Amino acid sequence: MISREQLHAAADELDLADRPVLVHASLRSFGAPVAGDTLLDTLLSLGATVLVPSFSEPQFGVAAPPSARPLRNGIDYANPPATAPRDEPYTVDCGLVNDHLGVFPKVVLARPDVARGRHPLNSFAAVGPLAAGLVESQRPTNVYEPIRELAARDGRILLIGVGLNRMTAIHLAEQQSGRRLFVRWARDAEGATVTAEVGSCSEGFPRLTPTLRPLAATRWVGSSVWQAFPARETLAAATAAIAADQSVTHCADPVCRSCADAMAGGPLDFAGSARR
Ligand SMILES: [Zn+2]
Repeated sequence: MISREQLHAAADELDLADRPVLVHASLRSFGAPVAGDTLLDTLLSLGATVLVPSFSEPQFGVAAPPSARPLRNGIDYANPPATAPRDEPYTVDCGLVNDHLGVFPKVVLARPDVARGRHPLNSFAAVGPLAAGLVESQRPTNVYEPIRELAARDGRILLIGVGLNRMTAIHLAEQQSGRRLFVRWARDAEGATVTAEVGSCSEGFPRLTPTLRPLAATRWVGSSVWQAFPARETLAAATAAIAADQSVTHCADPVCRSCADAMAGGPLDFAGSARR
């Protein structure tokens, strides 16, 4: 049994009080039942603002329009990922989230005071005193604005029982290192198809461990390891490491299309060149 006091002590020792905190959590990692609401309430009781990815690609992604298919975009247009888009477009109060993100984002989204970004595929959601400020500037063409806000406010990235392959912020470091983000498609409120930025393959991110682990403060709660990374310093270190060696984020699959296309700089525009 993990007590609320244990959770509170770990969060306090990791200096999360009164900060925005981007949380990636495996509730199973504790080895004993911990309710997502208990974890969330504990963080909020310290004055923290809790930010989570609340992605919804399976629900709102649509097929690439034939007339707008950039090359080097991490996608095989002949064999695209299956989509089963809903009839209605994404809204910030749709309540839908990708099941693969686990339980905790659903707990955050269920709060009546949740604030959610305006990105149909890769939104972020937040609760707490800074929630609106973190997510209100997110747009389909500005997917990682909540992470920029997190860094600007000296926030933390908290990994609870998960690895660096879950650290979404590294996608912003990829962008800052010079890569363009992949584009996917969704419908806007009028039903028109619009482009939306998304991240690439994250399975190679644990290779940044030698660069990032020295930045983390670590505590154990039961069998769950908590790692708290300062967002600003972590972004700077990851950006520098990727800029110095673009191959450092490549996953273990030697023919991973996403990794190859991201390493090469990301999507080309229709003139056949990179925008930067
Ligand atoms: Zn990959």
